[in-house]
Amino acid sequence: MSISRFHAVEKASNRKPVAATIPATKVSDYFGIHVFTRKTQKKYLSKETYGALTRAIDQGTPIDREIANHVAAGMRMWALEKGVTHYTHWFQPLTDGTAEKHDAFVELDGNGGMIEAFSGKILVQQEPDASSFPSGGLRNTFEARGYSAWDPSSPAFIVDDTLCIPTVFIAYTGEALDYKTPLIRSIEALNKAAVDVCHYFDEEVNKVITYLGWEQEYFLVDEALYAARPDLMLTERTLLGHESAKNQQLDDHYFGSIPTRVQEFMKDLEEECYILGIPVKTRHNEVAPNQFELAPIYEECNLANDHNQLLLSIMKRVARHHNFRILLHEKPFMGVNGSGKHCNWSMGTDTGINLFSPGKDREDNLRFITFVVNTLMAVYKYNGLLKASIASATNAFRLGANEAPPAIISSFLGKQISEILDKFENSSIEDAIEVDAKKRLYLGFGQIPELLLDNTDRNRTSPFAFTGNRFEFRAPGSSANCGSPMLALNSAVAYQLMQFKKDVENKRAEGKSKEAAIFEVLKAYIKESKPVRFDGNGYSEEWKEEAAKRGLDCETSVPLQYDAYLRPEVVCMFGATGVLSQKELEARNEVKWEMYIKKVQIEARVLGDLSLNHIIPVVIRYQTALLENIARLKETFSAEEYEELSFEPKRLTRKIATHICAVTKMVEEMIEARKVANRLTDYREKAIAYHDTVLPYLDEIRDHIDDLELMVDNQMWPLPKYRELLFLR
Ligand code: ADP
Ligand code: MG
Repeated sequence: MSISRFHAVEKASNRKPVAATIPATKVSDYFGIHVFTRKTQKKYLSKETYGALTRAIDQGTPIDREIANHVAAGMRMWALEKGVTHYTHWFQPLTDGTAEKHDAFVELDGNGGMIEAFSGKILVQQEPDASSFPSGGLRNTFEARGYSAWDPSSPAFIVDDTLCIPTVFIAYTGEALDYKTPLIRSIEALNKAAVDVCHYFDEEVNKVITYLGWEQEYFLVDEALYAARPDLMLTERTLLGHESAKNQQLDDHYFGSIPTRVQEFMKDLEEECYILGIPVKTRHNEVAPNQFELAPIYEECNLANDHNQLLLSIMKRVARHHNFRILLHEKPFMGVNGSGKHCNWSMGTDTGINLFSPGKDREDNLRFITFVVNTLMAVYKYNGLLKASIASATNAFRLGANEAPPAIISSFLGKQISEILDKFENSSIEDAIEVDAKKRLYLGFGQIPELLLDNTDRNRTSPFAFTGNRFEFRAPGSSANCGSPMLALNSAVAYQLMQFKKDVENKRAEGKSKEAAIFEVLKAYIKESKPVRFDGNGYSEEWKEEAAKRGLDCETSVPLQYDAYLRPEVVCMFGATGVLSQKELEARNEVKWEMYIKKVQIEARVLGDLSLNHIIPVVIRYQTALLENIARLKETFSAEEYEELSFEPKRLTRKIATHICAVTKMVEEMIEARKVANRLTDYREKAIAYHDTVLPYLDEIRDHIDDLELMVDNQMWPLPKYRELLFLR
């Protein structure tokens, strides 16, 4: 039974405000109380166990079964004290989102009673019944077995009555079936490669940490209105709906205050985040009506990604408490901005240096240039891969429209850095580098100012922008797992740094000094990577042409973008860094194509149903009323008067009839196109067919129905309209 549109709107507007909750304590008092933090670990673990666990996290030493048993015992004690009854291995399958299977702590004690048990064995490894998670065929070749294995680097946490243990999810034969496994591998690869390069400048560095600070955008809609929109319920986006007369033209939402109801939701959400140790920091309205953003303080990349995944599930729950629904889809509404998830990325050393911060002395600055230029090179060489890493059926609607970056990866550096690189490229080593009496290296063409951060020098249109002490990857979509873009970026930069070291060593073997070798290699890289640097307007049409000329990947079909994962140079890069094998890459692409097919398939089905069962019957009813009206006019008026008075009703009826025919015909054609595509057995072929032959119908059908929305009696229209959905009261 569906809720009528008017009932839904009324229900939404009569909502009582939620009473303001005054937090009883300071955030610092309850931050992380549901997390097995180091402080808690210290309290619940023996000194020896704590030491072994910390070493495992910081240095990657293995954890033996005995230590695992001790950790499990400590965790259990802590959890039971908090009233926890269940535990789960929490993992990130390739479907997006997280998965968990809850088991109770209790075991039979053999004497007719029960005991609370949780052993190291259970902590370390589980075999969830995972045959329904996609594996791209990886598990079929053996048995339908996948294992979840404890990731000690991300602390366990408690949600409700359940102890959640972050885990990787792998096949029986060790292949990754999730995002976390290759993400951790990529972080390790980057650590190793970056430490090696750091040693050119500083022997003290032992570890390089990858940081991620995400910015999560989302829409909120009223739950009652959401329930009256089958498209939102089933696809998280409006497949129909004419633009509202007012949407974001006035920018009033961006600058406006946060509506009270939303503010209450945000407060609750933030409280939950703090309890779970997610360091959320900023919240604000976004550009589109009903659109908001939440960003934390950045953290180590793997933990930050876990926190983002955790946030997404908390958000959904908290929203429902406030009678909202969260839309994480990248483009829930046509004609207004979509939602992204900017990934702010940087690297830092265990000696406390941000590798993307120009330092105080000149040697630091050469290091800074080294890391910036190598990142640029990686983005240049793997721009197609980076795009594939953010490509999805849903993000495709966002890219290239309404202030989202285009489906082309380029990098904006800002005026200062661009000028420095240009100078570097055009100077000779004698000009550029002098070595002082202490054999310290510096750049002769002037000091890079200590404080570089120039916040006004920003380019909002760039998909990969340097923003002072980090790069901001803006192409990832709001519903995505950051692991996908992060593992691609980490691996590409790691491989590039390995290459850099090789190139430098080759020059040194020719007898060049270390400084001269670094200088020459960087100079060549600056030249080579130039095509990826773009400081202009990324939204413009000219850029698309220019980018193609520069040889950047301009593919817009999502199924074809995934091919980038299997290009020889990409397979080689992932192999050399040890992040993903060819077999894994192939399997993961199967999953991606399959997901793409399913998304488009569901949308096509929902739109077909909505058109034929919801819209067209109502339109026909209105058309019948018009025909009735025309007949009455004829009965009532003289022939002459009738001619004049029936002109407009007739014209409207004709227009409506044309739209009805068009919609009905296209829905049939779309069903036929689906049938043809469904006969294909190869996932790639099938995904291409869905993209090329089914997807275009979605827009075409919508165009007709959106026109009809403006013609048909408002009272009759069966779905809440944009103006109702988009403006929260
Ligand atoms: P803006 O909207 O201007 O991009 P925000 O304050 O919304 O800025 O978001 C900035 C994000 O960048 C935050 O998530 C923050 O934690 C993150 N960030 C800041 N410095 C770094 C850094 N060195 N490395 C990674 N992320 C960072
Ligand atoms: Mg940002």
